[in-house]
Amino acid sequence: MIAIAIAVALGAALVQFRVIEMGREADSDRWQASQDSTRARRTPTVQGPLSGSSIAILVGHWSKEDAVQDIGAICEENGVATHTELQANQRVADIVIPRLEGLGARVTRLYELDERLNGLSVNLALSLHADSCIDATGYKAANLPTSLTREAEQDFIACLRNWYEHHTGLPWHAYSITEDMIRYHMHAKVAGRTPSVILEMGFMGGDQELLFDRPEIVADGIVDSIRCFLTPTDMPPLPEPSS
Ligand SMILES: [Zn+2]
Repeated sequence: MIAIAIAVALGAALVQFRVIEMGREADSDRWQASQDSTRARRTPTVQGPLSGSSIAILVGHWSKEDAVQDIGAICEENGVATHTELQANQRVADIVIPRLEGLGARVTRLYELDERLNGLSVNLALSLHADSCIDATGYKAANLPTSLTREAEQDFIACLRNWYEHHTGLPWHAYSITEDMIRYHMHAKVAGRTPSVILEMGFMGGDQELLFDRPEIVADGIVDSIRCFLTPTDMPPLPEPSS
């Protein structure tokens, strides 16, 4: 008799316990659903190889106030500016940013002295510049040698040396890497875990036709370098040089 009573009591307790547990599960399902919808609102709808990646593209010399616009390097004819570095940087960024978004990345477009640079936490911060209007050709990139993320930055630069070079055909112009590029302000402002690289896409003199008339080629080189860095396994093997 006693044994039966204990069994019944235990059974009832067990049923009650399971009901409580089911209630908890329903609550956590609701919580999960609300989390998912919050996340869905924050992330872009495009799903692609760069989904879940965040990238900051700094448009070199671009500033908020149009009146005090810094245009960077210039090419001039008879004292009149024919090409400005700001135009080149913007033109390339205008192609690169939507392309990255189309691949699923969250992209922030930054001014040269953007306040959002301070403590910026992204998977890659890349600043786009073009070099002076001299009759030289080539590109180069630099990071801070003492950076906590210098290995990642070197990996990204290795991707540039494969993919940027592959698309643009430009040579690496190592000897014009300046102290200004190495000690570039962005490197010191971003969060410690954010890889930060400045790219000089080419010379406005010798590479003018590429920078101003074929910016989509420059953009191809940048986008593929970013994909090589963030999702290396998604990249096809690099084609053999065509020559
Ligand atoms: Zn510049």
